[in-house]
Amino acid sequence: MKQIGFFVLLTALFFCFSFAGQASAQSSGTTIILDGQALSLQKKDKVEIVKGSVMVPIRVISENLGLLVTWNQTDKQVKIWSGSGDIKLTIGQPTASVGDAKVRLNAAPVNRSGTTLVPLRFVGESAGIDIGWDNAKKIVTLTTSQPSEPWLPPSPTPSATPTPAPGATPTPSPSPSPAAGGLIKGIGWSDGRLAISFSGSLIPKTYAVADPSRIVVELPNTVFDPAFSTLQSYDPATQSGEFAISDGSDASHVKYAVTDAVSKTVTVTVDLAADKPFSAYQEADVESNVYVVDLKPTATPTPPPVNPNNGKKIVVIDPGHGDGDPGGIGATNKQEKSFNLSLALKVEKLLKKESAFQVVLTRHDDTFIPLSDRATIANKAGADAFVSIHANIAPGKPTVRGTETYYYAGSGKTLANVMHKHLVQATGFTDRKVKYASYKVLRETAMPATLLEVGFLSNATEESILFSDSFQDRVAQAIVDGLKEYFRVK
Ligand SMILES: [Zn+2]
Repeated sequence: MKQIGFFVLLTALFFCFSFAGQASAQSSGTTIILDGQALSLQKKDKVEIVKGSVMVPIRVISENLGLLVTWNQTDKQVKIWSGSGDIKLTIGQPTASVGDAKVRLNAAPVNRSGTTLVPLRFVGESAGIDIGWDNAKKIVTLTTSQPSEPWLPPSPTPSATPTPAPGATPTPSPSPSPAAGGLIKGIGWSDGRLAISFSGSLIPKTYAVADPSRIVVELPNTVFDPAFSTLQSYDPATQSGEFAISDGSDASHVKYAVTDAVSKTVTVTVDLAADKPFSAYQEADVESNVYVVDLKPTATPTPPPVNPNNGKKIVVIDPGHGDGDPGGIGATNKQEKSFNLSLALKVEKLLKKESAFQVVLTRHDDTFIPLSDRATIANKAGADAFVSIHANIAPGKPTVRGTETYYYAGSGKTLANVMHKHLVQATGFTDRKVKYASYKVLRETAMPATLLEVGFLSNATEESILFSDSFQDRVAQAIVDGLKEYFRVK
């Protein structure tokens, strides 16, 4: 990052002109159409045609094409940050570079009264933008969406991966740092949705490709968590994996691979029987972030049928995470989603024996349910209480342990207090108290709601206890006892 700040500062100064009025590129009679819309250029933006190349001010590249452009005054060099390799052009130089490659230009960048003009076609194509040129009408068309190159499965023996000598044990790669980008923890498919669980940050580029129909998610600056290969289908030799989908949806396969080892790009594709609209969004829970590609943009799951009000208290038990979102990963790689589901099923079994309660679970199996859908299930069921079950992690702090309980709305505080009292008694873990937190499932539920962090999976002792059957039986009974006290059920 050392030079970037300097470059960006210079860029800011360089572009710090006062522009008055708007005009199209009349000086050359050239029109530039970006994704179907004619660019409205500033008066000062002199578009020129030099040796048959359309030359545009670098402001057009940064503001209209959305590429990060930096300027080095000393070297008279323009740098355009691009996923396919940084593009460097120098005023007066007929040679440019894209990544490590040198490229000969038709026309060298020029300076016109303080403004640098660069060849539009070269920059656009180098940055992966489709360029069309109507010479008779002097119209340049730029298309930024829908990359044209299809995703190619990685070759079985990528040259970047050294072949181990016979008999040699493969050396584990060094543990990547989540702070450096995104770390993929899980990839799954449930109910028409792709879920990519991660830590760190992801800046996904998601688009549909036709013939054959598929959805492509490109994740630059992203690597797989070392635990990923132990939890899911993954071949370290090819740095790829896949699984089939057989849920009756239009999707048939999910494939994932490191498609660029140098820039650390992971690509995930969903093969489809036909083109389908989709929506994509990120959501965050206590222990995990999930990127969701949803093929059912408007649909929410139908809540379980609810009997007419017969005086029973309707309680929704929400086992956190599921499928491609494993939640927290424990000290010995045990997954939070399994603990949550196992405990929730025990609570359900106990509540079904209580005539005063009607119980609804947000999931009964290893399924990914978006956070807002969990709240919707409870709201549509007309629930009287919502209890979300989780187990915690403290990354890099294996000694942190204990039980804590969360509420968001004031209406959930009493429920949280009562539940926590019973919970701590049952776990015997350190009392980490009742806390306020703005978690989505607590925010979007219309009834008293609480979220239980039963213990810390990242602590080896608690992880082992959390997965013990008798411990779960005891905690399940405590949850039922808490609900009975809260609703004053004998
Ligand atoms: Zn959780």
